[in-house]
Amino acid sequence: MAVPRPAAERREDLVALYREARPCTLCPLHEGRTQVVFGNGNADADLMFVGEAPGFHEDAQGIPFVGRAGRLLDELLGEQGLARGDVFVANVLKCRPPDNRDPQPDEIETCRPYLERQIELIEPRVICTLGNFATKLLSGSPRGITQVHGTPQERELGGRGVRLYPLFHPAAALRTPRVREQLREDFALLPALLALAPPAPAGGTPPRPSEREGAEAVAEASGRTTDGLDGRDRPEPGPPGCDQLGLFG
Ligand code: URA
Repeated sequence: MAVPRPAAERREDLVALYREARPCTLCPLHEGRTQVVFGNGNADADLMFVGEAPGFHEDAQGIPFVGRAGRLLDELLGEQGLARGDVFVANVLKCRPPDNRDPQPDEIETCRPYLERQIELIEPRVICTLGNFATKLLSGSPRGITQVHGTPQERELGGRGVRLYPLFHPAAALRTPRVREQLREDFALLPALLALAPPAPAGGTPPRPSEREGAEAVAEASGRTTDGLDGRDRPEPGPPGCDQLGLFG
């Protein structure tokens, strides 16, 4: 099991990882990028979001989720009393694929160590995977987002027990109102999920799904049934978020 490390030390290592990633030429995507989009937010966040890859605006600004999908992400976070500065946001790929095409398997594998190291250093308790690519990569399962969204899974990632919480990608939610409503409903479980104690580490055994346990724990913490969406407790708004760019400041 991973030994706990002070947040300041982990943050320093995260900044060092960013400096290492910034000039990365490990895959051909570096040829078309404006810059590496490493991720940003609270380097000691309990909650981390993992999207797919930077798009046009992210590539231009160097910050993940700053386009329309990002605005929806901010809105949904706000509804749960959270701000961008409370969480850490990253992507499976750190460079923009040409014409926003899907990430390719070799690109995902090449970029994967950056994400794994980010998870190890940030030590989130809950990781929301946004869409199919992040979900399949971090769950280690081929089950798609339509099947698995909204049900927490216990996994060992970055050397610790983590609750993986697959969500529809905000870009899909922008295209389809029903998906948007489902994403909003799934987001409403986040406060309860964050209130749970971290899952016990798997003790070196390979990741193993325990979706039912996670779903039941959330249902218990949120005071609702596993299949019901009633009795939802809205949290009080949290303290103002720290500077999103604090990581690099
Ligand atoms: N979509 C993603 O998956 N990531 C971003 O950073 C922006 C849009």
